[in-house]
Amino acid sequence: MFGKTPHGTDGVDKDVRRSIRVGEVPVPELLPDEVLVQVMASAINFNTVWTAMFEPIPSFAFLERLGRTDPRHDLPTHVLGSDASGVVVATGEAVRHWRPGQKVVTTPAYVDSQDPITHHDSMLAADLRAWGFETNFGGLAEYAVVKATQLLPKPTHLTWEEAACSMLCASTAYRMLVSDNGARMKQGDVVLIWGATGGLGSYGVQLVRNGGGIPVGVVGSEAKAALLKRLGCEHVIDRSQFEHLDDEKAWRALGAEIRRLVGEDPDIVFEHTGKETFGASVYVARKGGKVVTCGSSSGYAHEYDNRHLWMKLKSIIGSHGANYQECHEVNRLIDKGMIHPTLSAVYPLEETAQAARAVQTNRHVGKVGVLVQAEREGLGVDDPAKRARIGEERLRLFR
Ligand code: NAP
Repeated sequence: MFGKTPHGTDGVDKDVRRSIRVGEVPVPELLPDEVLVQVMASAINFNTVWTAMFEPIPSFAFLERLGRTDPRHDLPTHVLGSDASGVVVATGEAVRHWRPGQKVVTTPAYVDSQDPITHHDSMLAADLRAWGFETNFGGLAEYAVVKATQLLPKPTHLTWEEAACSMLCASTAYRMLVSDNGARMKQGDVVLIWGATGGLGSYGVQLVRNGGGIPVGVVGSEAKAALLKRLGCEHVIDRSQFEHLDDEKAWRALGAEIRRLVGEDPDIVFEHTGKETFGASVYVARKGGKVVTCGSSSGYAHEYDNRHLWMKLKSIIGSHGANYQECHEVNRLIDKGMIHPTLSAVYPLEETAQAARAVQTNRHVGKVGVLVQAEREGLGVDDPAKRARIGEERLRLFR
């Protein structure tokens, strides 16, 4: 739960521990197309951090806007969380595909399925919202309310906390890299991945490898570089050797390092780091290459030299979340043991603020989980034989 208090606006360290609280709030009535989920585990996403910093705008503004059509959401508390695993408890009368007792994971896109565009690509819907960020009743709570079109079956070999951590980041990375809506990565493509052991990056690296591409991962420390190699990323760049990437000299040095490692320029640059890296990303992409971006952790107002874009016929692709089908496709890869959760740490619900602080201060790798109604870690595995086949060392690589 997130309290409507004016902390975090001191302009210095907007410490998320000052605005995230755990407390009691009522469970709302279900609409006909909604499902009540008993949450076993959840995870921290960067949007949890944005909300608790009141950036880019206080998320209560989102709730107020949604409240004009659905007044249940406009409350003085905001239940955060855009990922969860759990059990269906109750369904609205229009829900056909889900029934109580089923084990599920949630997907984050909250859309009106009666809007025509959602049948083409729901990410283009006018009223698209990120659940638990732009809506209330998110996953960091004992019970969550989702639309029926946000649910997928829980992968059978995973624990509750492993199942809960992947969907937002894995599906976003999938759309960015693999989908027709993103960069449409081909076998052999060289892909530069910023933040390669972070939430998005750790799935990006796996998707590139799984699709026959060649990842070049950028990380901020030696320890992360070692982890990235264990993830199977052969080509690793420690960004601490490039202090400021804000001029062409530094971009050239980065480009030279990529060429030294793989002998060519990236076909695709996987961007979410924003202002501090974007100029370099546009520069290092190969002629005709693509920069696909879904975020701006270091600042939204990017600067890049447009000559490098137009003269080299590069393109910038904006990407956001993933539609239900893209979520289904990546969940299938996880269920088949081709893509693995990158859970690194688990906190109890009471310590959600500390969990979010770890992500805010970049003290984490992969995903940070939150145990909610699961009694302890390690529960929820329905197919131990499949788990044994895949191997604990792969499933617990980030622990
Ligand atoms: P994360 O787990 O914190 O990972 C981000 C990684 O970026 C970190 O591991 C860090 O790695 C690297 N990094 C941070 N600052 C950097 C900088 N100035 N220069 C280069 N690298 C930097 O976060 P995440 O979950 O991956 O999310 C990343 C961003 O994507 C956030 O802004 C988030 O809001 C956005 N996002 C958007 C969507 C969407 O649908 N639009 C979905 C998910 C995430 P090193 O320190 O090791 O380099």
